[in-house]
Amino acid sequence: MASPKLYTTIHALKTKIEVPLGLFIDGEFRRGGGAAFHTINPENEQPVVADTVQAASKADVDAAVSAARLAYNTTWGQTVEGSERSRLMRKLADLIDRDTCLLAAVEALDGGKTVTWCEGDIADASACLRYYAGWADKIHGQTLEGHAPTKMSFTLHEPVGVVGQIVPFNYPLMMAGWAIAPALAVGCSVVFKPAEATPLSTLLLAQLVHEAGFPKGVFNVVNGSGRETGAAIAEHPDIDKVSFTGSTATGRGIAVAAARSNLKKVSLELGGKSPSLVFPSADIDEAVKWSAFGVFENAGQSCSAGTRLLVHESVYEQFVNKLAHAADAIKLGSVLDRSTQQGPQIHRAQFEKVMQYIDIGKAEGARVVAGGTRYGDTGLFIRPTVFADVHNGMRIAQEEIFGPVVVVIPFKNEDEAVEMANDTSYGLAAAIHSKQADEVGRVMHHLKAGTVWVNQYTMLSHNTPFGGYKQSGWGRQLGSYGLDAYMNVKGVSWNYGPEAAPKL
Ligand code: NAD
Repeated sequence: MASPKLYTTIHALKTKIEVPLGLFIDGEFRRGGGAAFHTINPENEQPVVADTVQAASKADVDAAVSAARLAYNTTWGQTVEGSERSRLMRKLADLIDRDTCLLAAVEALDGGKTVTWCEGDIADASACLRYYAGWADKIHGQTLEGHAPTKMSFTLHEPVGVVGQIVPFNYPLMMAGWAIAPALAVGCSVVFKPAEATPLSTLLLAQLVHEAGFPKGVFNVVNGSGRETGAAIAEHPDIDKVSFTGSTATGRGIAVAAARSNLKKVSLELGGKSPSLVFPSADIDEAVKWSAFGVFENAGQSCSAGTRLLVHESVYEQFVNKLAHAADAIKLGSVLDRSTQQGPQIHRAQFEKVMQYIDIGKAEGARVVAGGTRYGDTGLFIRPTVFADVHNGMRIAQEEIFGPVVVVIPFKNEDEAVEMANDTSYGLAAAIHSKQADEVGRVMHHLKAGTVWVNQYTMLSHNTPFGGYKQSGWGRQLGSYGLDAYMNVKGVSWNYGPEAAPKL
């Protein structure tokens, strides 16, 4: 049998691109002992490249953790100053910007996401690196009042150590940016697992980390399945923290594995079923546009997708009709065509799950006012689907579908809207469309969600925290809150005077 390749050429693009296929451990690409796999283009369900991607076995994860531990103990977490970490992170951001077109084209083919969106995501990843590069030399604790003139107390903020990071398929490089930037800024070293559906752009990122000149072992990539590679990270006894972005079911398992092994710290960014509340005072045309954007972006494969639209009964029919038109107008097609607005679902299992939910919605008695079918005969495309006459107890209103499907539910008054908005096990995001400040002020306080958008949707900033209430997660990403996730706080109490030990 021919030896597996560590690099291969993508032929589907006009410019020939060579991508790595190995694991990236201790500064180099290597073969892995796990079951190598094909990464599939969901537009035609064919492999993106003829060769397989290497997967990490438990032993490979051990090797990655050892490399990360050595880097943490000898350089990155000890002797490399914040200003140098910042310089390297900015250098990496510059290299990402230099290669955006290439990275976006690869990510588009790998994940079935439009190349235009991939370019935006990749710009976000480099901007996030720059945002946290700005923090790297500004990490500080507090000086506290001592209990005597000859005593003082203060806090030291120290990196957690070696972190395992596991991300989903829907925003490969953007999620990588959000995960690695705060960790690297504070001095943690990283063992990173991309989703098995979308490993290629992350492997190109590893190449850029190398080119930027990071010490070896600071950033390691272990491709592979969740069951084998992901589980090996979650239960590893020498990983100090695991940060996970993905489904609530997987997150629950990771928390259990982390607790069972070494009680490593855990951050979880999980699923959602986020409501948007549309009040009569809103600009209805704008509310429709933001709502369509908020749910159909990335073919509905977004954790914070606004999948439950709660609309006041006085504007309900008007809103439903306008939203149906907006959904019908979305152009599906090839992800490399710049006029395409929606690509396929990520893989066949997800495509079938979404189609099943559409059948469930029909069987539950909801009214399909747009979409409701697949698009074309090849590829995993689903028409943007709008269900009206939904009530909040229906499965399509409660369960995360993760496809281009939205439900529109009427409400009578503010109390009923808030009650329905919170009547879900999730709490990732919510939106309020209203021009009445008092209404916005009341409702934003009552919503049980980590993010509340007002008269907009999906707009995120690196300085604003993001994360979930309830079963949408633990902890926050982004902003200064995102740094806290990667630091231990040490309280130091120092007696530098003559105080003797108390009598026993
Ligand atoms: P997923 O949970 O199936 O997989 C996510 C990652 O976890 C992948 O890398 C996968 O290989 C790994 N994994 C799977 N099983 C594992 C296990 N037993 N142990 C360790 N790792 C394992 O999710 P997905 O289908 O890739 O992504 C969609 C989900 O992600 C949705 O629920 C979405 O809401 C959520 N998501 C949340 C956020 C957020 O910030 N809150 C962002 C993006 C996506």
